[in-house]
Amino acid sequence: AQAEGPRWVTILGSTGSVGSNTIDVVERYPDDYRVDALTAHSNVDKLIEQALRLKPRFVAIGDEALYGRLKDGLAGSGIAVAGGRAAVIEAAARPSDWVMSAIVGAAGLEPTLAAVRRGAMIGLANKETLVCAGALMMRELTEHGAVMLPVDSEHSAIFQVFDFDKLDAIEKIILTASGGPFRTKSIAEMTAATPAQAVAHPNWSMGAKISVDSASMMNKGLELIEAHHLFRMPEEQIEILVHPQSVIHSMVAYQDGSVLAQLGTPDMRTPIAYALGWPKRIAAPSARLDFAKVAQLTFEAPDPVRFPALRIAREALKAGGTAPAILNAANEVAVAHFLGGRIGFMDIPALAAAVLEAVPSVELTSIEDVIQTDAEARRAAEGKVATLRHN
Ligand code: NAD
Ligand code: MG
Repeated sequence: AQAEGPRWVTILGSTGSVGSNTIDVVERYPDDYRVDALTAHSNVDKLIEQALRLKPRFVAIGDEALYGRLKDGLAGSGIAVAGGRAAVIEAAARPSDWVMSAIVGAAGLEPTLAAVRRGAMIGLANKETLVCAGALMMRELTEHGAVMLPVDSEHSAIFQVFDFDKLDAIEKIILTASGGPFRTKSIAEMTAATPAQAVAHPNWSMGAKISVDSASMMNKGLELIEAHHLFRMPEEQIEILVHPQSVIHSMVAYQDGSVLAQLGTPDMRTPIAYALGWPKRIAAPSARLDFAKVAQLTFEAPDPVRFPALRIAREALKAGGTAPAILNAANEVAVAHFLGGRIGFMDIPALAAAVLEAVPSVELTSIEDVIQTDAEARRAAEGKVATLRHN
């Protein structure tokens, strides 16, 4: 139960796209939300600016080399500062009511786990955590009485229309996907795609990694695994549907033929506000849907040939154990090299498939397994990148 007074908030990854949108919502309610801690990895100037404005109690920078600049920037402010990976985990472990998990990639796993283990209420944007360690995270969640509120727009949509008391009546989940910037492009165009083309998402403005994931549709593959864990739905009961307007954020189909959907404009401040205010609903500044202007909602099946990531992710989920963690690590490595101009766009799914084949999946019994698997899969991926490199 929520105590009287403001809800104390921790924002992990505060300088990112989701982190900044979270701050935008929080700042509209100075009496209801107060910031306990902020963390970032390398954007120290933005972190200092956020800290001076929001006056948190604690600020952590992941890149230890930037600790001096953070300390100088916040000197005299009375805000406690720390640097390094442990400091980011400490930020998550400090007592606060609500934690936004918005670090990108598997780097968010340990901080998110620290928040789970103290029974916090967590707004989860960092889907990679559930991809890598979903079964363990869900177990820890129950064990520690933590609450996980999805922030990923599709999962927020499902959460809002998912009847947790009538699980047997749910036939399937329909995850919608915009199709990304390459929805209508040919394989040849995709093979030659530049990083700038891949990050130019038609509907959403997001960080570079998730933008590339959206272009390859690996994002939807990761979201399939995320949905499987959050809603305990078998893989075959989760359908992926391309819906280019990004108005329907996802749907739940019931056995009586009813389909419930959540709709809205593509603005992350809506799912962020839903998670931040939960169980209340609070106002968000997102643009309102103008149905006459939208005029049409269209749908199409995803193309498995141009978007092999969808099949690869399904197979990783079916294989279970550490396979999804292997997939995630390979994808993170591939996306970083693609963004660096060293491999081609279609090398991303190829690399993910090759690493999944090369690294044996084992049973997932502890977080240490995940961390070890992640490191092993990254090494295998780097080895394969070396054979593909353009420069
Ligand atoms: P981003 O790149 O804009 O921001 C990432 C944040 O994480 C930054 O604050 C950065 O400092 C921090 N960070 C990066 N590496 C770190 C590390 N090693 N240790 C500690 N902190 C680190 O990313 P984003 O687009 O905001 O996405 C964040 C997460 O939310 C991702 O998991 C993404 O899939 C998910 N998500 C994002 C959106 C969106 O609209 N951007 C939508 C749905 C889900
Ligand atoms: Mg999403």
